[in-house]
Amino acid sequence: MELNLTNLQTNQPQSHTKIEDVIVLGAGPAGLSAALYAARAELSPLVLTGMSLGGQASLTHSIENYPGFPDGVGGSELGELFQKQAERFGARYEYDSVTDVDFSKHPFIIKTYSQEFKTRSVIISTGASPNLLNIPGEKSLTGRGVSYCGTCDGWFFKEKKVVVVGGGDSALEEGLFLTRFASSVTVIHRRDQLRAGKILQTRAADNPKMNFIWNSVVKEIQGEAAVTGVVLENVLTGEQSVFPTDGVFVFIGHTPNTEMFRNKVDMDEHGYIFANSKMETSRPGIFAAGEVMDSTFKQVVVSAGMGAAAAIQATRFLEENE
Ligand SMILES: Cc1cc2nc3c(=O)[nH]c(=O)nc-3n(C[C@H](O)[C@H](O)[C@H](O)COP(=O)(O)OP(=O)(O)OC[C@H]3O[C@@H](n4cnc5c(N)ncnc54)[C@H](O)[C@@H]3O)c2cc1C
Repeated sequence: MELNLTNLQTNQPQSHTKIEDVIVLGAGPAGLSAALYAARAELSPLVLTGMSLGGQASLTHSIENYPGFPDGVGGSELGELFQKQAERFGARYEYDSVTDVDFSKHPFIIKTYSQEFKTRSVIISTGASPNLLNIPGEKSLTGRGVSYCGTCDGWFFKEKKVVVVGGGDSALEEGLFLTRFASSVTVIHRRDQLRAGKILQTRAADNPKMNFIWNSVVKEIQGEAAVTGVVLENVLTGEQSVFPTDGVFVFIGHTPNTEMFRNKVDMDEHGYIFANSKMETSRPGIFAAGEVMDSTFKQVVVSAGMGAAAAIQATRFLEENE
C-alpha cells in the first residue's frame, strides 16, 4: 500500500494513491462474508472494520441459530472464523472507522480518521448500534453499572441484582445469560407481552432467577459512583417507584450506522439504506448489505447472505465497467 508520507507532517489524512477494486465498510457478518466472496473473486478487498471486528454478533455469548453449528457457537468465535476465512483468500483489514465518503465521482473516496482511500466499488455494511434510553443517569453511569452487552459485562455482576430493559430476543437472550452471574434478573418491559420468540420466552419463564415488571418504563437511573436503582413509571397508571438494582442492561433496539452516507445514497426516514435484491443502492457501484439496509430480519445468517450477494454483484459491476 502506497502512503503519501508528506501528509503525516501536516496532520492531513494519509492519501493512498492506489485505487482499490472494492472497499468493504464494516466487519460484522455482512462485511466479513462480503470480504470472503470478494477475496475469492481475487479482488483483494480492503475491509475497514470500525470499532468491532465481528460486529454485534461478537457481543453475544452463544449463537444457536447459525447453520453448521449444531451445538451453537460463541459470537466472538464466529466473528474470528469469518475473519480468518476471508483473510485466507486475500482480504485485508484496516482497524479504522469511516468518517466521510464522496460517491459523486469515480473512483469513489472513503475517508477515515487518518486515511483517505480511492475505490472502484464499495460495500456498505456498517450495521447498527444499540439505542439509548436517553434518560438522566444513563450517560454518567455507563460503565458503572449501565451496559449494552450482557456477554461483555455480566461477569462484573456476580451475586448482584440487575435489570434488563426491553422485551425482544436480545433482551431475553442476554437476560438469560446474565442469570449465570446475577442473583436476580428483572426484565422491565413497556408492554404486557414480550416480542421475543416462543423458545426464549419459555426458557425465561422457567428460569427461577428471571422476573418481569410489565407495563413500565425506566425514567431515571440512580447512583453516584455506581448504579443503585432505577425510577420506574407504570405506563397505565403513571405511578412512579424506585426499584433498587446494581446493574441496568439496555436492549431496546438499534439504529443503523448510516449518518455518513446521508444524502450520498437513498435511505428511509429511519436511516436504513434502500437497496434492491441485488444489494444495489441508488448509486451504481455502491452496494449495501446487512443491518444497514435490513430493518426486518436482523440475523447473522441473513446479514451474511446479503454480504455474499453484495460481493457477487460488486464483482459483476467491476467486470462490466472495466
Ligand atoms: C446481544 C445480541 C445478541 C444477538 N444474538 C443473535 C443470535 O443469536 N442469532 C442471530 O442470528 N443474530 C443475533 N443478533 C443479531 C446479529 O448480531 C446481527 O443481526 C448481525 O450482527 C448484523 O450484522 P451486520 O454485519 O449487518 O452488522 P453489525 O454486526 O452491526 O456489524 C457492523 C460492523 O460495522 C462496523 N462499523 C460501524 N460503524 C463503522 C464506521 N463508521 N466505519 C467502519 N466500520 C464501521 C462495526 O465495527 C462492525 O464491524 C444478536 C445481536 C445482539 C446485539
